[in-house]
Amino acid sequence: MKKLKLLLKTVLILFIIACVLFFGFRSYLFSDDVQFTKSITEQLQSKKVMIVFAHPDDESYTTELLLDAEKEGIETALLTFTPGDAGTQMPQVCQQQFLGDVRKAEVYKSGYMLGIDYQKVFDYGDGTLKDQSLPLLIDDIEKELEEFKPDLIVTFWPESGMTMHPDHMTIGKATQQAFATYQKNNSKYNAKLAYTIMPSKVVSMLGGDEMNKLQPEANISIKAKAAVKVTLWDIHASQNQFVKDYTGLPAWLIYRLINREYYFIEDIAEAKR
Ligand SMILES: [Zn+2]
Repeated sequence: MKKLKLLLKTVLILFIIACVLFFGFRSYLFSDDVQFTKSITEQLQSKKVMIVFAHPDDESYTTELLLDAEKEGIETALLTFTPGDAGTQMPQVCQQQFLGDVRKAEVYKSGYMLGIDYQKVFDYGDGTLKDQSLPLLIDDIEKELEEFKPDLIVTFWPESGMTMHPDHMTIGKATQQAFATYQKNNSKYNAKLAYTIMPSKVVSMLGGDEMNKLQPEANISIKAKAAVKVTLWDIHASQNQFVKDYTGLPAWLIYRLINREYYFIEDIAEAKR
């Protein structure tokens, strides 16, 4: 009986220590100076959202925004510019030569979970976007914008690309330029361009102080459900360990510590509240 009491006491103390560490670390990482909103699409009164990314699994950055849109009956689209064929398998699930096909399937499944209405995966080589003709990429994006007519477009910040990946940076740059033309020709939509941003404290924690100098602070955030992101990485089976490899912490923990999505949206002050 005495032993049981001691065991319970120890478990309780360990639990309290774990809670203090967890909530302390979470509040340290929390960017409380960034405007918080229940739903970005609701705040902006968006009617159609298009996400423009480079790889299958990049949509992990925007799960909550997409699910909010789905809940609000807003049409969504996801463009993925490479099939992710040059990725490192974590863990290995197929022969490397088939990785592009496997990851294409993974992003379609992930898109289905997120309720995405229109999806397209381009066949540009993974890791080659910066060597592609920029006007060609811009043209591809412009065509998709003209076809889908979104009023909210989400992409990477061109100078930092969320992880300094050159494909992300190139796609951010191409989208920015395609957006400028689209907006000029479709001013009635009052379209907005949003960038997915890793908050500066998290960037610093990952040792990327240099990256902080290259990107703006996020200016809007939404709460993001960890379970959805963990499920997304289960769907992306060939990349399942990516988060752990990149951050040193398992996905279920990192998404509970950083339970927000952060964005920088130009002209957000004009947003209707
Ligand atoms: Zn990527």
